[in-house]
Amino acid sequence: MEVRRSARRRRTVSAYEEDGRLVVLIPAGFTRAQERMWVQRMRERLAARRARRTPGDDELAARARRLSTRYLQGRARPASVAWVGNQRRRWGSCTPATRTIRISEQVRGMPGWVLDYVLLHELAHLLVPGHGPDFWALLEPYPRLERARGYLEGVAAAAHLDISDDGPDGHDVSTDRDGRGEHAV
Ligand SMILES: [Zn+2]
Repeated sequence: MEVRRSARRRRTVSAYEEDGRLVVLIPAGFTRAQERMWVQRMRERLAARRARRTPGDDELAARARRLSTRYLQGRARPASVAWVGNQRRRWGSCTPATRTIRISEQVRGMPGWVLDYVLLHELAHLLVPGHGPDFWALLEPYPRLERARGYLEGVAAAAHLDISDDGPDGHDVSTDRDGRGEHAV
């Protein structure tokens, strides 16, 4: 968060996000109390705007249906698609046995074409478990495939996260105690 005072501003306050930081522009003559009040107000306003922009679980499921129809001939039919907050080392994961797809909250603020890639990746795992050529052939028609993978790699590198779309050791398949395969982006 950063507050910038401007001598040219008289009464107007504005705010925007820059490199993930909130920048609030206020008139130079504002008191500390006015500054605090406006920073709080602008923070709430931006949070509300972001909440309107980002899809909820219902919209996420609808988005997955559209992607399945468009790129997978509707063959991938998840039983549920939901955001999860406790998935910090994976962008998305899929349990084919229950046809459950979970998308990390970390993807929420990313561009729509990145979210679509993560969804499509997990949808494809409902049809093909591993990351063989047949898996990538399913994703081939998605026009921003390489760009989206590059974007996620960039975010992971910037955050020093040991996360890539093929998982920590170039393989994203882990098996839970029930022996069901789980696949993560
Ligand atoms: Zn995968």
